[in-house]
Amino acid sequence: MFNVWVENNKQQKAVFDWIMRKFNSRPNEEKVKEINLKIKSFCSHATQKWKKNNRSLENMMKYDSRWLGMDNVFALSNVSHKGRPTVSYSEGSEKAHLDEEISLLTPFQWTLEGERKINVNFELNLTLIDGKVLNVLTNTKSSQSCPICGANPKQFMSVKDIDSSIFQPKETSLKYGISPLHAWIRCLEFILHLSYRIDLKKWQIRSQEDKEVLKQKKSEIQEKFWKHMGLRVDKPKANGSGNTNDGNSARRAISDPEMLAKITSIDKTFLKNLKTILICISCEFQIDVELFFCFCKRTFDIYMEKYDWYAMSATLHKILVHSAQIMQSSSVPLGCLGENASESRNKCYKRDRVSHARKNSRENNMKDVFDRAMDSSDPLLSSMHLSKRIYSTKKQTFPPEVVALLKSPPNEFDDDKPTTSRQALEEFDEICSDDNEDMDDSTCFSIELEEEEESWD
Ligand SMILES: [Zn+2]
Repeated sequence: MFNVWVENNKQQKAVFDWIMRKFNSRPNEEKVKEINLKIKSFCSHATQKWKKNNRSLENMMKYDSRWLGMDNVFALSNVSHKGRPTVSYSEGSEKAHLDEEISLLTPFQWTLEGERKINVNFELNLTLIDGKVLNVLTNTKSSQSCPICGANPKQFMSVKDIDSSIFQPKETSLKYGISPLHAWIRCLEFILHLSYRIDLKKWQIRSQEDKEVLKQKKSEIQEKFWKHMGLRVDKPKANGSGNTNDGNSARRAISDPEMLAKITSIDKTFLKNLKTILICISCEFQIDVELFFCFCKRTFDIYMEKYDWYAMSATLHKILVHSAQIMQSSSVPLGCLGENASESRNKCYKRDRVSHARKNSRENNMKDVFDRAMDSSDPLLSSMHLSKRIYSTKKQTFPPEVVALLKSPPNEFDDDKPTTSRQALEEFDEICSDDNEDMDDSTCFSIELEEEEESWD
């Protein structure tokens, strides 16, 4: 089967045809679907091994002879149905079920003393999701492509104009928020990967020589991170769950663009702008969308000018190109739609599972965790310690660049309101320039960059 795969240019289809020829008659649809899944899994395994062995048949024979020699690779490459959502999530019941529940909501009417009535209409947005779910919902096949416009990494590299028609958002793809928490982590990862390659100036690393250079640079940068910032980056976690690039590392690293630029040798202005943009999409105040878009465009141009040899990651592309569009189509600031709420429940689940649930069976255990989650999410109970929680989260002040991008309240008497976005941008530069002394403490808002508690395990 491996030979068929190599001889036919690594085509999944060829392997499928080859297997189909082995059947006397075409099996039923169910079976075909199953076979297809298995072939897909086989091909992805084969690709991995092929790459690992530097695309040489000789190396394959040498290092992976056991895998090749298995009588029936096909039978062993079982597809697991566990884990993150697949296409069935959108095709099947889950999304449709949610949509149906939303459509059944009726406006809530409340009569105050006297005659006054208050109508509350509901608008529900599915924003507590992560990248994988978003890809499924927007029908994006590859995790490297942009879920909003569908552009692929090659296009990220070749298209240098942010207004290009290739970057036009797909219909309905803008209503799923922007996942600000994950955006920080993905951006840090992107910065790291870019910095490993900064001397090579190559997107894909193929030759053994380059791989060595990359490895060297990686450990060099990791060391610098530890020395100057006290952060361990891009290393597997001790307990085996994921790696050390979590929200807190990302926040600390990106919040200090000067040091980050020194460590990674990436353009300082770009990093500084990226920090501003990330705070804007995580903040719970209205942002001036037009001005924000100009700012993103400028950052996009800086990137394209300096690093056009390295394709942006889908997340960075989404943030630079589409965040203003998402902001425009959302009725509340993006920070309010963040997935922090659901992510911060994770630590509660861990604790509840260990300390507040029966352990005599898996079913009971899950039931207790679920019941407790239902109880603690009751509006009355969850608001009990609200003020305590608000005070215990660490607040940070907005940098002046972010304040300048905030939407100002409408003011009828303000005559020198900038009329064009160009004017607005000039004014913005003035506010952000270093010699501006108007920036006193009164312009500092506080933003809740949520600090995660110590992990429970
Ligand atoms: Zn896009």
